[in-house]
Amino acid sequence: MSERAAVVGAGTMGNGIAHVLAQHGWDVTLVDVAPAALERALATIGTNLDRQVKKGALAAEAKAEILGRIRPATAMGEVRGASLVVEAATERKDLKLRLFEELDAAADAGAVLASNTSSISITEIAARTTRPDAVIGMHFMNPVPVMQLVEVIRGHATSDATTARTMALARALGKVPVEVNDYPGFVANRILLPMINEAIFCVMEGVAEPEAVDTVMKLGMAHPMGPLALADFIGLDVCLAILEVLHQGLGDDKYRPCPLLRRMVAAGHLGRKSGRGFYPYGDR
Ligand code: NAD
Repeated sequence: MSERAAVVGAGTMGNGIAHVLAQHGWDVTLVDVAPAALERALATIGTNLDRQVKKGALAAEAKAEILGRIRPATAMGEVRGASLVVEAATERKDLKLRLFEELDAAADAGAVLASNTSSISITEIAARTTRPDAVIGMHFMNPVPVMQLVEVIRGHATSDATTARTMALARALGKVPVEVNDYPGFVANRILLPMINEAIFCVMEGVAEPEAVDTVMKLGMAHPMGPLALADFIGLDVCLAILEVLHQGLGDDKYRPCPLLRRMVAAGHLGRKSGRGFYPYGDR
């Protein structure tokens, strides 16, 4: 019998994590409070599997088998029986703290409780449970089926055993895990967001137009995507929230969010998802 994992939150990241787990033989319970999110997630996973089949990366028969391993659910109690729980719900601290109290009550003893948070302290999340040694960050990158990295974040009380299990789990999913400690932004966002912020300062100060900034970084630094196009992809509201965490958590003004970023978020220009950010996205 294959092992069961539970993924809590069926949005952008949750559907990708469920996809990768099921593709690697796990039975997956995908939990979301919104039934519509579960429907969308299954449709997205189907479309992404089709793409893999078209590219020759997956046998056509595998699609139904993989989808058949994913069981949608709306109640947190459904995480019972999972040896791995990955939380990928909305990035709100109050929500995650409450969710981990619920997960602690519902999940099996011995399960690894992982959070895919981009910026919330794993130590604080873990402290809400009776088993902080079993709580860890498992920070997948978007799009999950494509990106190789998993940042594995050790909270203050995370045990060596939980860390070793999580590193091995990530490798078994075909990913490359990197172990980091729990400080604001971990490593990925601590380095990425100040770069994006500086690119926005360049635009605000009239140093260069967005296209020019992105071209410099693509052709000059061999980045596959310019920082402003990437900011639009991530979501400008998400970028702002992560910068606030860095600024507050590290207490250094070098992380202060650029006023232009604040202004664009206030205007509702959030990037791809709102149809407009540093670039227009006409179809939304
Ligand atoms: P999203 O908004 O696409 O999806 C979040 C989902 O969580 C929604 O479907 C929502 O209905 C669900 N949800 C909310 N409350 C819930 C609850 N109590 N129980 C179960 N489900 C609940 O968000 P996302 O972009 O997938 O982000 C999820 C997590 O992954 C966040 O912590 C985010 O910081 C992190 N992350 C995001 C990215 C990215 O590029 N989007 C990259 C790395 C990490």
